[in-house]
Amino acid sequence: MISTQQDSRGAIRLDGVAKSFGSTRALADVTLSAPAGTFLVLLGPSGCGKSTLLRVMAGLEAPAAGRLFLGGRDVAGLPPAARGIAMVFQSYALFPHLSVAENIVFGLRARGTARGEREARLARAADMLGLGALLARRPSQLSGGQQQRVALARAVVAEAPICLMDEPLSNLDAKLRAEMRREIRALQQRLGLTMVYVTHDQAEAMSMADQVVLMREGRIEQDATPAELYARPATVFAASFIGTPPMSLLRLEAGQGGAVIAGLPGHAVAPAEAAGGLLGVRPEEVVPTDGHGLPAAVLAVEFLGAETVLSCALGTAGQMVQARVPGHHAMAAGTPLRLRLPPPQHLFDAATGRRLP
Ligand code: ATP
Repeated sequence: MISTQQDSRGAIRLDGVAKSFGSTRALADVTLSAPAGTFLVLLGPSGCGKSTLLRVMAGLEAPAAGRLFLGGRDVAGLPPAARGIAMVFQSYALFPHLSVAENIVFGLRARGTARGEREARLARAADMLGLGALLARRPSQLSGGQQQRVALARAVVAEAPICLMDEPLSNLDAKLRAEMRREIRALQQRLGLTMVYVTHDQAEAMSMADQVVLMREGRIEQDATPAELYARPATVFAASFIGTPPMSLLRLEAGQGGAVIAGLPGHAVAPAEAAGGLLGVRPEEVVPTDGHGLPAAVLAVEFLGAETVLSCALGTAGQMVQARVPGHHAMAAGTPLRLRLPPPQHLFDAATGRRLP
């Protein structure tokens, strides 16, 4: 039976995992854990080590150091097939000469699952993913989204407690991607799967994850829920990675009555101790006003449909702040305006990039 219960076989724990390729350090001291049933997203820019970490979990790469527990079991030395995992790759990795049905049950057949059991699992997975009418087709006769569903069905029939996905939606157009995000999330919840999902798209991570592991240069930058990551980014890197658009970061210097934005004396925006640091402001919290506000000038206007992003220069030091405002605002570059910033919530040490307490 497909398990709808979360069971401890899905728990994940990594302890001090490291991996290098020659002189490239792909992973350094990666420690994390997630309970069974978690949707865990590995997020970060290209080259930060996300895929390598996934491949280490899968048993496709051997770590140079550290330990890895899947379902409470130390899996060092276990081949991929013995780890209780299913995998979905970006390329889908479907066999072109096999039908959809044969592709879906390929792994079961290889493992010698009895025919009756195979057919029952195929029927359930095909039903779950809406593939019933396509089972006799070849992959070349399917759309990208349908091929994606076949790859998902193949992971589902494995009935593994842990599913690993490496950028599975990157070949799809934006609309289909949004639809498949919801579908994958619903499937994961329905089956109680532990998901480890690699993406470089922060919006995808924020919308799907229970837990986001943000990576940078082979290390974990922050490990938090999407809400925490948004509300309390631990570093400047995390602050500038999350949000649409991400936070604006403004240099602060000592001024009258507190810290002021460099190039904009006379308007204290943070406590005096923050001078020399960086103030992060979310564009959705910056409000153009007719009354009191910081003097600014429009640099660029980007219309998004329901909202407009105004990129503005603040003061004389060339600092840029963005405001995301409802509606359509046609403003010429150079238009002066006044901006109200939110109370200072995100202050960072300029040298270390760390959040100030
Ligand atoms: P992307 O989003 O671009 O796929 P990623 O975050 O998944 O990036 P990895 O593919 O894990 O990053 O790569 C991490 C680092 O290790 C990179 O510097 C990469 O060039 C290097 N690397 C990965 N695989 C190999 C390999 N087989 N041989 C040599 N270097 C590798």
